[in-house]
Amino acid sequence: MLRRCTYRLSNNSLPSLKSILKSVAGELQLDEVNAACFDGKVWKATGETVNAMSPIDGNPSGLRVQLATPADYERCITNAKAAQREWQLTPAPVRGEIVRQIGEELRKYLNPLGKLLAIEVGKIFPEGVGEVQEYVDVCDFACGLSRQIPGQVIPSERKGHFMMEQWHPLGTVGIIAAFNFPVAVAGWNTAISMICGNTQVWKGSPTTSLCSIATQKIVTRVLERNNINPAIATFANGGVDVGQAMVRDPRVNLVSFTGSCQIGNEVAKVVAGRFGKSLLELGGNNAILVMPDADLRLVVRSVLFGAVGTAGQRCTTCRRLYLHEDIHDEVMARLKECYKQVKIGDPTQTGVLCGPLHTINAVDAFLEAVEKAKAEGGQLQIGGERQHIGVPGPNYVQPTIFSISPNAKCVQHEVFVPILYVMKFKTLEEAIGYNNSVEQGLSSALFTKNIQNIMTWTGPRGSDCGIVNVNIPTNGAEIGGAFGGEKATGGGRESGSDSWKQYCRRVSTTINYSDSLPLAQGIDFGSS
Ligand code: NAD
Repeated sequence: MLRRCTYRLSNNSLPSLKSILKSVAGELQLDEVNAACFDGKVWKATGETVNAMSPIDGNPSGLRVQLATPADYERCITNAKAAQREWQLTPAPVRGEIVRQIGEELRKYLNPLGKLLAIEVGKIFPEGVGEVQEYVDVCDFACGLSRQIPGQVIPSERKGHFMMEQWHPLGTVGIIAAFNFPVAVAGWNTAISMICGNTQVWKGSPTTSLCSIATQKIVTRVLERNNINPAIATFANGGVDVGQAMVRDPRVNLVSFTGSCQIGNEVAKVVAGRFGKSLLELGGNNAILVMPDADLRLVVRSVLFGAVGTAGQRCTTCRRLYLHEDIHDEVMARLKECYKQVKIGDPTQTGVLCGPLHTINAVDAFLEAVEKAKAEGGQLQIGGERQHIGVPGPNYVQPTIFSISPNAKCVQHEVFVPILYVMKFKTLEEAIGYNNSVEQGLSSALFTKNIQNIMTWTGPRGSDCGIVNVNIPTNGAEIGGAFGGEKATGGGRESGSDSWKQYCRRVSTTINYSDSLPLAQGIDFGSS
């Protein structure tokens, strides 16, 4: 039994956790029992009532959630569809103003929502606040965009003809989110999709229902205050059955799915089978490459944040570190020193850098991955065990470093825990080959000061990922750039740049304002 262990409680974490949750729940208007469904008219769910758990101590948090069922989802989609016409006909800048107000409202709740993320997801408090800030930022971005959603004018080859491209709303967007970013994923999708004129149904992970409910309440309040039909943004938080109902439903024009490659693959097939659109944000197996000329201070700080941040539970977590052989020993020594300083514990407490894993199953996955790495000849450099001391629950593990062969099979897979595989290389070309050798293609980073290296890395023969960084970590993307990755990461793009196009349908329009009918390509089809 991998899970069995004893752990020692830190002095006073449990009472403080309860009192933090109590005050946060008050601010966020959470009740003792919370319906995880808002169908645009009422908050009502008909599924099982479960305890909302906290990975901090592995115990019920004190609040309960009644989960949504496919029948609840049905009410949501029906109402979202009915609200579609009015919202589509609302001018885009007016839609943008509503999204701006959602950002304003969220600003007021940065702290309580950040704390709730710490309690329910297990991320440290500053990362919780940072996640809410991402939603705020994307609201600002979307508001500006709502005043300038572009469309091209294209020169026509025919006299007296005018050609243009327009971007219309898709209809209704279904959003399915992973457990590790319950607020930000909702935000990336909601803000952009709303200004594009879509209505939505969204579903977060059932293990982070409180965060989803609190976020939905904020959005609903803003809509009601503005006399906008709240059914433009409905919410059904349930399990797999609710996700499957959404994925199969032909009324859902776009399924925006964030989660594992395995489930994303199933989702993609089902949606394609009904000629729907999908936007996939799936797993990553992200690497940092370090050249001998790199600034090693930046390297060490970046690897620490990349590999240990969110306890290794980010899609952009750095899981592979390729060090040039000339600086390998130096970086390894510095990293190990840094890892020794990392405080593991209750993520609501100041100074803690590594909180718990989200579930006890993830602890098993961690221990299994450690055994696999050892079986493949990996040399444990630091960590490798559960953390028993100074932590308030059973879900804590030690951030871990293995030295291992770049050809080891375990290096090829994303295990959602803080394990870093460190490997050596001799040339940049070789390291780029390693970077590109895994099935995912989300994020990647090179550390160097050499312009030739930088241009090679960022060019067409460089990293094959959607995010290609230089001298910064693999994680912590800004919302202004399009976020997403290639290959098994799914190819989707969310957030900034022209990601809005994924929430629209493209229309090519040709207008003949002349008195004649010249055909394209000079075709003569008989004249009258
Ligand atoms: P998961 O795939 O287990 O679940 C994701 C969501 O899908 C949950 O809401 C779940 O209830 C739902 N779901 C499960 N089965 C379904 C089905 N058959 N049909 C429809 N919905 C279904 O992922 P997780 O464990 O919650 O999250 C971790 C994974 O998500 C990691 O692989 C991580 O890399 C990835 N992730 C990717 C990004 C990104 O932007 N690329 C962001 C965050 C997380």
